[in-house]
Amino acid sequence: MAHPYHHAVSSVKKWGGAVEDYLPIHSWFDESKAILADFRHRALRHHAEGIFMAERIFGTTITLSSGRVIPTRWVGEQHVREDLGRIPSFADWARAIRPEPWMGKAEKLSHLDEQPNESITT
Ligand SMILES: [Zn+2]
Repeated sequence: MAHPYHHAVSSVKKWGGAVEDYLPIHSWFDESKAILADFRHRALRHHAEGIFMAERIFGTTITLSSGRVIPTRWVGEQHVREDLGRIPSFADWARAIRPEPWMGKAEKLSHLDEQPNESITT
């Protein structure tokens, strides 16, 4: 399992600049390790929508310390490909979730059936 630092070193080899230019993006992708220590943490951000989310968070482009400007999505695509060998969609991850009864349990929204309080007059 690659550490964000090693992903950042790989980014430097591809596009130049310094490890620090990329580390915030790679660390963001792997922050989900804080909630799940094994590879399943990747389901949270390691997919196409996660790459677009990184773009919203870090901006469309990043300016490297070398002055070069590169698309943020390039960095996200690199990260996900290095971890998974491809860029899955979130649907690919969701298909791997084993459904449990609690996931579809809905409570009756009984409060929505109540009539508006007509005793209040204006
Ligand atoms: Zn990762």
